[in-house]
Amino acid sequence: MTDILSLTLAECKELAVSLGEKAFRGEQMYRWMQKGAPIEEWNNVPASFRAKIQENCEYRLPKIARKLVSKLDGTVKYLMEMNDGEKIESVFMKYEHGNTVCVSCQAGCRMGCTFCASTLRGRTRNLTASEILGQIAVIGRDTGEKVGGIVMMGIGEPFDNYDNAMKFLRLVSSPDGLNIGLRHISVSTCGVVPGILRLAEEGLPVTLSLSLHSADNERRSRLMPINKKYPIEEVLSACRTYFEKTGRRVSFEYTLIAGENDSAEDAKRLSVVLKKYMGKNPLHVNLILLNSVDETGYSAPQREMANRFKEQLLSLGVNATIRRKLGSDINASCGQLILGENEA
Ligand code: SAH
Repeated sequence: MTDILSLTLAECKELAVSLGEKAFRGEQMYRWMQKGAPIEEWNNVPASFRAKIQENCEYRLPKIARKLVSKLDGTVKYLMEMNDGEKIESVFMKYEHGNTVCVSCQAGCRMGCTFCASTLRGRTRNLTASEILGQIAVIGRDTGEKVGGIVMMGIGEPFDNYDNAMKFLRLVSSPDGLNIGLRHISVSTCGVVPGILRLAEEGLPVTLSLSLHSADNERRSRLMPINKKYPIEEVLSACRTYFEKTGRRVSFEYTLIAGENDSAEDAKRLSVVLKKYMGKNPLHVNLILLNSVDETGYSAPQREMANRFKEQLLSLGVNATIRRKLGSDINASCGQLILGENEA
């Protein structure tokens, strides 16, 4: 069965021809799919061709199972259902610089970070490139708004599903299709070093985000089991290589957790390791106040503490901002996305 949403425009035309149709029919189907339209709505495509597609192909367009709209900032959290019933979440966010969609790349996650809800039940399966792309197509259709940017910061670890993640990046940035600029796409990793090094060779000018969360190996290993395999020295050296190969500034995510990584000493240590491994290369630290996840037992520091942490980094010459929290009334913030049953 051909996975039609993973095809390029040229491949759709070839498919149409191989099914005995004119090539332009392939272009029509491509246009409908990029708009997230279910096959019943493809009204300029003959029913006979649609029947052939349904017989020979699969259309992995996610369905909106539920959606929650934030009353605070218009953020929309979607519970999406895949063809096999697997559920994931995606989030639509409005920023001053444009609309951004946060996509999931796996059903669940097996990275085991102790503060994150997405990993609580492990990983069920990888999403295909079409299922990742489909989240954006469906959200574009539902909101009727233009999507200008993407963050791969939903459920899952992109480098634990490397090939599908790369295929997705190529599809979504295609000028024939959604045409979202790679420079407006962030790929976030918990620190899978081989993935970072491979991405550096892909020639895709995305922004790499590294979820760092601690500059101390013992502490980081406790929060993020991946650190036992790829400790701070290795992951930061890989980030440096990434910058050197691509010229793209790396962004570091640092979730502040009360009593774990938010002291003045932690800020100092962070500035020291970043300078040691990243040298004078441009970088940015995104501070995130922990979003509460009942099961984890961690809590966020007071806002004042976070401000102090940021000021300290700035005074040590490290570029840092505190990330604005969106969708907090609908559990749509970082680390709160789960397989979909946590809605109030
Ligand atoms: N697996 C990738 C993609 C997930 S991105 C990664 O780890 O980077 C989600 C971001 O939110 C990561 O930086 C993650 O560490 C962070 N996060 C997870 N749980 C969180 C929580 N409870 N509060 C705030 N941030 C959290």
